Amino acid sequence: MSETTAPASPHTDELLGRYESSLLGVFGRPTLVLEHGDGAWVWDVDGRRYLDLVGGLAVNALGHNHPALVAAVSKQAGQLVHVSNFFTSVPQVELAERILGITGAPEGSAVFFCNSGTEAIEAAVKLARRTGRTGIIAAEGAFHGRTTGALALTHKPVFREPFEPLMPGVVHVPWGDVAALEHAVGPDTSALVLEPIQGEGGVVPAEPEFLQAARRLTAEAGALLVVDEIQTGVGRTGTWFACEQAGVVPDAMTLAKGLGGGVPIGALVTFGPEATALLAAGQHGTTFGGNPLSCAAALAVLDTIEQQDLMAHVREVGDHLQRRIEALDDPRVTGIRGSGLLRAVTLAGDWSAAVTAHGRDAGLILNPVAPDAVRLAPPLVVTAEQLDLFVDALPGLLDLAERDAT
Ligand SMILES: *Cc1c(COP(=O)(O)O)cnc(C)c1O
Repeated sequence: MSETTAPASPHTDELLGRYESSLLGVFGRPTLVLEHGDGAWVWDVDGRRYLDLVGGLAVNALGHNHPALVAAVSKQAGQLVHVSNFFTSVPQVELAERILGITGAPEGSAVFFCNSGTEAIEAAVKLARRTGRTGIIAAEGAFHGRTTGALALTHKPVFREPFEPLMPGVVHVPWGDVAALEHAVGPDTSALVLEPIQGEGGVVPAEPEFLQAARRLTAEAGALLVVDEIQTGVGRTGTWFACEQAGVVPDAMTLAKGLGGGVPIGALVTFGPEATALLAAGQHGTTFGGNPLSCAAALAVLDTIEQQDLMAHVREVGDHLQRRIEALDDPRVTGIRGSGLLRAVTLAGDWSAAVTAHGRDAGLILNPVAPDAVRLAPPLVVTAEQLDLFVDALPGLLDLAERDAT
């Protein structure tokens, strides 16, 4: 639909052809070939500029080409990129301490570093297994990753079914249903794993009462509460971690996405000595996890968020976006979900794919997280004026989407 209006793109077309004959097709055909970026802007190989309102899927926390990240990675690359886990490094120790500091984790807490979100979840699954119990509870609509252990926790049938049988013992409870949670959590429950806001599930926040009930029920049953902050963490919702906003302290937390600002890194944080003691020497490991390069990148991200007060900025521009969307007074826009800079604009029809395609033609990168919802997870440095570009364009994009549908 958008192809007819797209300007000539010789380099893009050529590279996408080569992509399709050389890369495994699990992602389908990409829509752009990007070349460089600056802040919230990216440019493709044909010189077109786009406002990146997806931020590499909540990853590019500092935006593109941020001087602090560039400097930290460049400096560390000139010192050490990798050492094995026979050894440690200054960035690794400093980052672990820094993460424990911002999580407010009690004495006896600890960090395990890995390279992705799904690996952080795998580590959490192994932690849960060490309780000696086998049941794991996750939520309907949950997304926890694609490796086979994490996939057992992910709910969406199209992701799971081609790979069944998956790890046994996982049950999914309806999202937000405290009574179902009460029924499900019991003496065989090793862990309850929840996202504070379901990201891939459509940016659907948990009510604080749901997370609080999860905390209470797992504590009573002697099970672990694992909060998956892979998408919501590291300032994205206006606080370091989204579960803080419900006043919930978990037994373990998973991090990835925004932590390295684009450099791959994941982490499992164990809260308190009991959870920390579950995994002993030799029971888990990784070759690349915790390498000095990715730890230096993550330190630069955390330092920049703090020094530039980016969490206050996220709250401010997130509220601004919400006010602007609510003031649109367009019956095709039904609302906005999420918090800070993890948002979904909800639509009265299944127009998100068309809005995304026409948005791209208009120089806006958007994500159709559900047929009737457009996700925004821009760099935390995005400005109110940049968000306005999207809000101002939305009615016109919906006109085009409606025209496509008829
Ligand atoms: C993205 C995501 C994952 C998986 O992370 P990967 O780095 O893609 O493996 C897990 N949980 C949540 C909540 C996520 O958003």
